[in-house]
Amino acid sequence: MGPLDRVAGAHDAAVLAVARRGEPVSRAGLADALQVTPQAISKILARLIDRGLMAEAGTISSGPGKPTTLYSIVPSSRRAVGLHLTRTRVHGVVTDLTGRVLERLVTPIPSGTAVPELIALLAETARTLAAHGDGELLGVGVGMPGPVDSETGVHLGVSPGTEAWHDAAIRDLLLAELGLPVLVDHDSRSALVGESWSQPGLLHNAVLLLVEDGIGAALCLDGTIVRGAHSRAGKAGHMVVQMGGEPCTCGRRGCAQAEHLAALRAGDEQRAADVLATVVLDLVRLVDVDRVVLGGRSVHAHHGPTMTAIRAAIDEGLSGPDSGHVEVLLSTRGVDLIAAGAACEVLEHEYGLPTSLVGPEQ
Ligand SMILES: [Zn+2]
Repeated sequence: MGPLDRVAGAHDAAVLAVARRGEPVSRAGLADALQVTPQAISKILARLIDRGLMAEAGTISSGPGKPTTLYSIVPSSRRAVGLHLTRTRVHGVVTDLTGRVLERLVTPIPSGTAVPELIALLAETARTLAAHGDGELLGVGVGMPGPVDSETGVHLGVSPGTEAWHDAAIRDLLLAELGLPVLVDHDSRSALVGESWSQPGLLHNAVLLLVEDGIGAALCLDGTIVRGAHSRAGKAGHMVVQMGGEPCTCGRRGCAQAEHLAALRAGDEQRAADVLATVVLDLVRLVDVDRVVLGGRSVHAHHGPTMTAIRAAIDEGLSGPDSGHVEVLLSTRGVDLIAAGAACEVLEHEYGLPTSLVGPEQ
């Protein structure tokens, strides 16, 4: 993709993002929303209609003169599969072009599953989901616990229960098995993409804290999701919150996820919530975001005390006269958060945005 294609892609993506909100839009409305000329919008619309991604959706009359033509996105024109891989199961979804979940499927992963069997299981889940809905299937996105090198699609993590997957080329193996484009990403980054599709325009400077088996974070700063020099950004679970505290799987003591897990095991929901609040406040102070989104199974199971503790920590910690307002939100996507986000990452490729999706060689 050259620089000019990239500019066209960004414009197409912006028009589709506006159309994705659901209401039919006019050429003038789009020009206004995106601050480009109606002539430029005409060219973009022609391109999107030609590809079947948008279509005319009737006309409206506002006074004398020619009625205004409206345009809508065509949700059924494309689909993507998203797979959320954890130590114990794969939670898969298939979505339409707007990221709406059409079908979901949860498949358990037997303990100690080796890489070839894991790939077969992921492929089988993807094939089953692909039987649902209409439209071209663009590919498969996998969101998994990190660290994950999204450029190479290799899982770099060494965590208890997934040792056998260390250094596995998940993307290339799955691509070879399915013959479809595949991308692999860190679960918290997939979640942040999915959430930003649900809350368009709100997560320009945001932290998404994901609490599943471990604790991870994804950061969007000035509209860009941070990956870091080694694709390892966001290991918030290993921020030390208690010097000399509980032993952690990483070999150190007092890491947030070790303290969080110990509190949950002891039935102390308040302490577990306070650990998350400490992490969130430190992240907010470090990178200055205006929104914090909480997601993941553990957050949904304990969201009452968690939300209260985090809001209190932020109110107390940022109470100075020049402290900005920070909103704390619960993820809108529930259990589908990561799977739907991984599907949205695949769809972003069709929207002309840069992604790490890699297809079969022609
Ligand atoms: Zn640790």
